[in-house]
Amino acid sequence: MFSKILIANRGEIACRVIRTARKLGIRTVAVYSDADRHSLHVAMADEAIHIGPAPSRESYLCGDKILAAALKTKAEAIHPGYGFLSENAGFAKACAEQGVVFIGPPLGAIEAMGSKSAAKTIMEKAGVPLVPGYHGDDQSPALIKKHANAMGYPVLLKAAAGGGGKGMRQVWSEAEFDEALNAAKREAMNAFGDDKMLVEKYLTQPRHVEIQVFCDNHSNGVYLFERDCSVQRRHQKVVEEAPAPGMDPALRSAMGEAALTAAQAISYAGAGTVEFLLDHDGSFYFMEMNTRLQVEHPVTEMITHQDLVEWQLRVAADEILPLSQDQLRIDGHSFETRIYAEDPDKDFLPVTGTLSYLETPLETPHVRVETGVRQGDEVSVYYDPMIAKLVVWGRDRDSALRRLQQALSEYRIGGMTTNLSFLYNLISTEPFRAADLDTGFIEKHQSLIF
Ligand code: ADP
Repeated sequence: MFSKILIANRGEIACRVIRTARKLGIRTVAVYSDADRHSLHVAMADEAIHIGPAPSRESYLCGDKILAAALKTKAEAIHPGYGFLSENAGFAKACAEQGVVFIGPPLGAIEAMGSKSAAKTIMEKAGVPLVPGYHGDDQSPALIKKHANAMGYPVLLKAAAGGGGKGMRQVWSEAEFDEALNAAKREAMNAFGDDKMLVEKYLTQPRHVEIQVFCDNHSNGVYLFERDCSVQRRHQKVVEEAPAPGMDPALRSAMGEAALTAAQAISYAGAGTVEFLLDHDGSFYFMEMNTRLQVEHPVTEMITHQDLVEWQLRVAADEILPLSQDQLRIDGHSFETRIYAEDPDKDFLPVTGTLSYLETPLETPHVRVETGVRQGDEVSVYYDPMIAKLVVWGRDRDSALRRLQQALSEYRIGGMTTNLSFLYNLISTEPFRAADLDTGFIEKHQSLIF
């Protein structure tokens, strides 16, 4: 096992990784920008290195500065968290060249999944079911339109380089197609510097069900079941839960096996998530694979009683997986909600300011608050305005839900507007309690939530 690692991230995920490292007796190095000099992750780490000004481009996205910090502090490995450099193949390569272990999958796997269209081509060959569509290299607008027409509308245009719900556009008819394609390409070029597009059949109100996979460097692979992330706003997850309500064991193992096939197709190692859309008739379709730890990984930890960051560290240190498929069990039910500094009454506009008052729910083995901030800290314009993730466990969905309601009602945040009451209202609706979930949930039940 490593004796010292550097965490190339900030906020809750940096704190989360530090906690596990400490548990395993591994020393930690934090990196920080000007804006984070006094942040919790810096206070928690054994050492901290300043890497530049507040904007991420000049700090948390500077692979060279972060690698230099690792070499200077003699950290043997780098945990990238999620976001920032976590899926950056160039950074993983630079780490390898300098003899620093990148705690993530092999370079080839990151590269292979870096483009949604290239990923679909690989998965198609491996026999993983795909959302019907066109994901070829020939980008002539007439050809893309021909495929859209043949599939029938509605269709969804997606940026091959897209992520975070950006660069997607629904098209409802052939008449709208040309203009939508041009607009989507412009948006993709602005956001990702790449306007390659794919087109998919737009499924009406499917569920988003993703599988957590883990592989080691010794040809072992397991799936740690599924998470249902159907409750979304603008294609971004708001509430996540595990297991997926109503999942039958045969479908669970079919999806788990498909996810492992996907991972094996790219010689995967470490933590990965294979995202599927689940249609009303029980068909499921590969969307993409995220080659990192996901924001919502704690719900999987709660129902399996495993520490996924520990698993990542063990795999990166060349150990074999802690458990085999037969040893993994689902116990109870877990929810995660993402608490944001944002104003639900102003179209969820991010807000900034000082957290003048902060009272978190009582933490117990069944209630986790994953956060990177304390009372008095700033939520700045520079980074994602997530204040915390609230994660709960219960022996079944109803008791987990009651615990979530209780914990959300105990949360007090002063100094800025948050989505706390929006979350409370959402999870308290009858359709949510009845687990009547699909990706259109929030839109459909607006009148109950707001
Ligand atoms: P991103 O990488 O930007 O997060 P994804 O491809 O993972 O994009 O899709 C994000 C969300 O968009 C999905 O969870 C789902 O709600 C919706 N979505 C994606 N593809 C489709 C599709 N073909 N039909 C319907 N909804 C889709």
